[in-house]
Amino acid sequence: MAKRYAMVIDLHRCVGCAACDIACKSENNVPHNFHWSNHILETTGKFPDVRYRYIPTLCNHCENAPCVTNCPTTAMHKTPEGLTMHDPDKCIGCRLCQLACPYGVIYMNKEEPHAYWREAEEPAIPGCTSTGPEVAERTGVPIPYYNPARASTHQGVRQKGIVEKCTFCDHRLAKGQLPWCVESCPTEARIFGDINDPDSPPSKHLAKYAPKVLKKEKGTRPRVFYVRDF
Ligand code: SF4
Ligand code: SF4
Repeated sequence: MAKRYAMVIDLHRCVGCAACDIACKSENNVPHNFHWSNHILETTGKFPDVRYRYIPTLCNHCENAPCVTNCPTTAMHKTPEGLTMHDPDKCIGCRLCQLACPYGVIYMNKEEPHAYWREAEEPAIPGCTSTGPEVAERTGVPIPYYNPARASTHQGVRQKGIVEKCTFCDHRLAKGQLPWCVESCPTEARIFGDINDPDSPPSKHLAKYAPKVLKKEKGTRPRVFYVRDF
């Protein structure tokens, strides 16, 4: 049986430290103002009866994904394991997926990404002599924003005029590793695995606690579940 990947977020374990957001940015080289891993902050009520909620968010890898059904080129597609993935070679930048997603987790590259670093003839640091590409070549460190891990499954440098979003770290899954936000969570609030396997950690957690999903009324059938809501 094919794997069916899902993530469970245990809100009783989550301490709102945003390590997941930072981990995602570092692993996937997510640009400024893009938030593949994000969170909702919600304060309701009046003192002393105040309720504060921190809800981590990311692409829900919906089973019934409107981004996929609205994509005219099949650039946004589902994999056999249920990941919602994006093929940059097929994307025409129409943004219909972005409009269709009820969760606001798709980002559009509007600028020529990182041309300065890839093509610059100016010194990388004012007062010095080396350009960005020279620094990268001499130090053996990739050009900033080039993501060698991402390049194993996607383009290593983003293009202008196409979209991007969380991939459940498919490049790590391909190596038998967990998504980096899951590995980086200090309280093990993110639980990831194959929910076709009843013994997997997410299956066990889902069996123990009644799960909720975001915007259930949209009928998207998310693969990101929340348990133990406050
Ligand atoms: S959360 Fe949005 S981008 Fe992710 S699968 Fe669902 S509709 Fe698509
Ligand atoms: S699964 Fe990977 S890409 Fe998705 S939010 Fe977590 S770290 Fe980011």
